[in-house]
Amino acid sequence: MTTSIASRLAKLNPRQREAVKAIDGPCLVLAGAGSGKTSVITTKIAYLVQECGMSARRIAAVTFTNKAAREMKERVGQMLKGREAHGLRVSTFHTLGLNIIRGELKALGYKPGFSLFDPEDAKALLRDLMNKDAQVDADQINRVQSVISNWKNDLVLPGQALSHAADEDELFAARVYEAYVRHLKAYNAVDFDDLILLPVTLLRDDPEALARWRRKIHYMLVDEYQDTNVSQYQLVRMLMGERATFTVVGDDDQSIYAWRGARPENLVTLGEDFPRLNVIKLEQNYRSTGTILRAANTLISNNPHVYEKTLWSDMGQGEAIRVVVNRHEEAEAERVASEILTRRIKERAEWRDFAVLYRGNFQARLLELKLQHYQIPYKLSGGTSFFSRNEIKDAMAYLRLLINPADDNAFLRIVNVPRREIGPGTLEKLANYATERGASLFAACHELGLAEQLPARAVERLGRFTHFIDGVRRRMDGGDAIAAIRGMLHEMDYEAWLYQNASAPTIAERRMANVWTLVDQLEKSMRADPDEESPSTDTETDDVEAAISRLVLRDILEQQAEEDDSDRVQLLTMHASKGLEFPHVYLMGLEEELLPHRNAIETGSVEEERRLAYVGITRARRTLTLTLARQRKAYGEMMDCTPSRFLDELPEDALEWEGRADREDPDKKQARGQDAIAGLRSLLG
Ligand code: ATP
Ligand code: MG
Repeated sequence: MTTSIASRLAKLNPRQREAVKAIDGPCLVLAGAGSGKTSVITTKIAYLVQECGMSARRIAAVTFTNKAAREMKERVGQMLKGREAHGLRVSTFHTLGLNIIRGELKALGYKPGFSLFDPEDAKALLRDLMNKDAQVDADQINRVQSVISNWKNDLVLPGQALSHAADEDELFAARVYEAYVRHLKAYNAVDFDDLILLPVTLLRDDPEALARWRRKIHYMLVDEYQDTNVSQYQLVRMLMGERATFTVVGDDDQSIYAWRGARPENLVTLGEDFPRLNVIKLEQNYRSTGTILRAANTLISNNPHVYEKTLWSDMGQGEAIRVVVNRHEEAEAERVASEILTRRIKERAEWRDFAVLYRGNFQARLLELKLQHYQIPYKLSGGTSFFSRNEIKDAMAYLRLLINPADDNAFLRIVNVPRREIGPGTLEKLANYATERGASLFAACHELGLAEQLPARAVERLGRFTHFIDGVRRRMDGGDAIAAIRGMLHEMDYEAWLYQNASAPTIAERRMANVWTLVDQLEKSMRADPDEESPSTDTETDDVEAAISRLVLRDILEQQAEEDDSDRVQLLTMHASKGLEFPHVYLMGLEEELLPHRNAIETGSVEEERRLAYVGITRARRTLTLTLARQRKAYGEMMDCTPSRFLDELPEDALEWEGRADREDPDKKQARGQDAIAGLRSLLG
């Protein structure tokens, strides 16, 4: 045994070691937060490579978020040296699916260069399809989108959806589903759910493809298994087949994706599908102080349990959990920011040692302002980066089409932006025609034969669009490319389109400003071209092309730089915090209707919210601070808030209250008042 893996194994506890060494059949590690489940996965990858001689390229590890995948890669990278890790797949389920699709385009009937529709793209397509019959509102579109998404996650194909439809609404959705799938295919596009659905149906229906992938992947490891949905489970099952060489780890108390079709019952199904399943439980928590762990355990004991798990820690009791009540949400944000500032100095901590978690992204807005005010560097996860903004994606698509008219994805993105009344029917026929001729969509628009396939009006509209683009390209060739691009944006009145589509004029204004920023950046980038010796007009378009590529690249690099262990406070939703840990954690907004969320209260799914709170609490290693506001702005008005019921479910003696509400019911108030007095007395000795 190489020394490195031997010493790794020696650091594990006996149960963890057993889980690492169980490699012949299916293995499930079922254990609470911070018990080393992810550590088992990373060590096991090293064990498979260094001890069992398995090639890293035959191993696929899957986890839930990109962030978690990055972390896992990093942890494995510390154990495997250079070549040893070569070809190892560590990714989210969706990235694994994307790779399978990329490798199987032909078998799937897709052309190279397919596009991935994000939920907004998909919504736009649904809107077009649904508007054909009658005017539909945004709510209807959202409902249909979510019904279709659920079907896809449950592996229900369009042909079967009709019989699955439970009511009128679903019958309607089933009909849209069929057209939606057909159109996606015509656009050579897949949506987010397809990233799992397509691989699963392919592996199920195509024995050769199945054999290919089983030769490629010999061992699979799945983290956060409690959050897999039916289609993801099937993907693992198909890939591993009879050999069942896999390890999955999970914690049913951390299942927080029911709304995305996650089935914690998969934990039970696993035992039925694989009778040889080796179930290993871990009980020692290595992450949190005794106080934090006790609070988490007490909270989650209010949920019913399929599996009883005990969790203990020998990290010492640590500090009490502080609960800070604030006057209003702004005071709450101010408090968190100023505390991080002082605590960092007091604890000699780094910025990265702090994380602020919240229920919804909107809660980060005020906090961002306060952090900026104190010049505290922070990283917002899940926020929208410049290049993922819709207006920037549109502008980039125009730029891409200008430099490469064969870019079908760019063409599809903007052919109807601003609206040119070129409908999905027209595009479908255009796509078919283009495919037959082996031409790009843009080139196909120029062909005379198209007139036989499409009504004259559609041909004319397409012609007007291509003529417009051709004109801009000529002007770019002929002189000042940047002026031509600015002129294009004015001429098509992109600004008016933004105003039509924004819920408020200020939003449209900001979006347009973003687009101009992009053009300015492009201009700067052209001037700064280091390869440029003597600017001459006939290389102008090449310059633009190079400048555009540089823009894209810079965005990617900047994102990567951000992903580095740069020293910043982490701001993220509780959902996004899964699997991560931080020395100091702030959990904001412990109020009824926020945590538990109002929708969950209304639909009776408070248990899932409790699990979410459990996830949040168990991210903390040394200190945990819970904050809440007495008033919060909602629907433009200041509303009174009630402290979260979860606060009452925490062990009272583990908490240290500050600014406890003086506006609640007198009984409670009195009881708490006495606590405060007792607290003061103990403070004063
Ligand atoms: P979660 O449920 O939150 O995903 P987890 O079960 O995956 O948690 P890990 O993240 O693997 O837990 O481990 C939690 C912490 O405990 C990590 O900092 C890890 O390095 C440490 N740890 C795990 N096992 C041991 C061990 N045997 N000895 C010391 N530290 C350990
Ligand atoms: Mg983990």
